[in-house]
Amino acid sequence: MASTAIAAFVPKPRTGSDDVVIIGGGLAGLFCALKLAPKAVTVLAAAPIGRGASSAWAQAGIAAAVGAGDTTDKHIADTIIAGDGIVDEAVIGAMAGEAADRIHDLLEYGVPFDRDLEGKLAVSREAAHSESRIVRVKGDMAGRAIMAALVAAVRKTPSIRVLEGYVAEELIVEDGRVSGVVARDKAGSGEELHRITGTHVVMATGGIGHLYEVTTNPTEARGGGIGMAARAGARLADMEFVQFHPTAIHIGKDPAPLATEALRGHGATLVNSAGERFMLPLHPDAELGPRDVVARGIFAEVKAGRGAFLDCRTAIHDFEAEFPTVYGYCTAAGINPAKDLIPVIPAAHYFMGGIWTDIVGRSSLPGFWACGECTSTGAHGANRLASNSLLEAVVFAARIAETLKAEMRGDAPADWQAGSVTTDEHMTENDHPNMVALRQTMSAHLGVLRDGEGMREALRTILKLANESHSVRFDNVITTAKLIAVCALNRLESRGGHFRTDYPQEMPYWKRRTIVTLDQANAIIPDLLEG
Ligand SMILES: Cc1cc2nc3c(=O)[nH]c(=O)nc-3n(C[C@H](O)[C@H](O)[C@H](O)COP(=O)(O)OP(=O)(O)OC[C@H]3O[C@@H](n4cnc5c(N)ncnc54)[C@H](O)[C@@H]3O)c2cc1C
Repeated sequence: MASTAIAAFVPKPRTGSDDVVIIGGGLAGLFCALKLAPKAVTVLAAAPIGRGASSAWAQAGIAAAVGAGDTTDKHIADTIIAGDGIVDEAVIGAMAGEAADRIHDLLEYGVPFDRDLEGKLAVSREAAHSESRIVRVKGDMAGRAIMAALVAAVRKTPSIRVLEGYVAEELIVEDGRVSGVVARDKAGSGEELHRITGTHVVMATGGIGHLYEVTTNPTEARGGGIGMAARAGARLADMEFVQFHPTAIHIGKDPAPLATEALRGHGATLVNSAGERFMLPLHPDAELGPRDVVARGIFAEVKAGRGAFLDCRTAIHDFEAEFPTVYGYCTAAGINPAKDLIPVIPAAHYFMGGIWTDIVGRSSLPGFWACGECTSTGAHGANRLASNSLLEAVVFAARIAETLKAEMRGDAPADWQAGSVTTDEHMTENDHPNMVALRQTMSAHLGVLRDGEGMREALRTILKLANESHSVRFDNVITTAKLIAVCALNRLESRGGHFRTDYPQEMPYWKRRTIVTLDQANAIIPDLLEG
């Protein structure tokens, strides 16, 4: 039976720790740690760094207006259009404006971004971008290459201590200030709880995809960090906005492999089993329309039993060379994309909601910061523009580091022992019956298409599962799910990633972000359930 005693932190004991504790070893967490050097930093990650993180799975790349003819203003304008009326313009201004500098940082850390014949950064085009602006690596290898470079840089940085296989469960709040985290080792299966304290805590735990039955995200992306922050009293924002990637490859895998949008950027079309290009009547840009529109188009075909397929047969000439990752997924499933159609389905992919932060990554709780997909900075509004999320992760990680460095005294002490503690275990629990029930409910009622009746049913199921919770980790996960359900029920319109069949129009009244605490959300549940 698991012990509930809080053990002293064993691997490298320090009293009165003055390091920064970063929870999460994806792009946001590692970039923040590197930018904080030589300040002492402890990074906790549920899986070995470079694994168990969406960052390593990113295929297309990072949006940055570095191509000929492109400008920061055009990048800002495209993001505002995609975000459907509620993008915070100051935030996207800062983010797009710092994109080139952060790409430069990544080059310095050794990321081998693709170059053109003149040696300039090569850029690709993606849906809803008015210019070619996605900085990439070998076609679809951006995430893997970026993370490989950052992991190597982190391992070489003496001020960064990495605790791999440590799953954070609870924030430590003392005198109203977040001062550390309670975590369990062995990928969360350890019996002992460890208390890891520091001057500041940065949450960088990524997204929520695994709250849904079909997702492109790794198992670790289940909203635990967001739930933990909510339970500690932090403010959350835009929790109703979930982005579904239109084209996950539909071969019954969990997580579902992704067929990058760049395929459609290269001319691949979407057809149903009758060979009809069903997106043509749905949007003037057809397959290159906004993600939510394409996701709904595909969802309708799948639901009607006609299926949806990517046809890459004439558009992509050398699939293996141009899109090696997607090619690998297809061939492993017996699909030859040069000859066969690729079956696709929408999958929970990106979360626009999360821990509310200000423009430097500060949350509403003293001592607590957040960056990457677990946040809602306002940069994405109701619908993220493709490839803006890696950019957001590095921009806000750097902003947090810069702000903390200005606030903090001293670097890593001489007796600081960096190094890592690793585990081979992986986070499991997805097969727990309550997790299975939660994922089914979320997909059935809080997915691509929503309505009041379905969402009320989902909220009732979530409240029941919360009452039956079997672990603190599940408390965190179910809290995030509850907040999504409450905020989605509360918004009586459709906008971006939130589409209600009972309120299909955008309403001027709702042209605003949702900002809420867990207590506030709990207080409106009885009214919401009455309908
Ligand atoms: C298949 C796929 C393709 C994508 N392609 C692109 C793209 O081309 N361009 C783009 O901009 N975006 C893309 N995205 C989105 C982008 O990858 C993510 O938004 C971004 O990588 C998030 O970075 P992050 O550091 O916030 O989170 P992650 O990279 O997911 O890292 C989260 C970290 O937190 C850890 N963690 C989670 N919970 C805990 C816990 N309780 N305790 C301790 N550690 C924890 C995880 O193990 C991991 O180390 C893609 C996403 C997916 C899934």
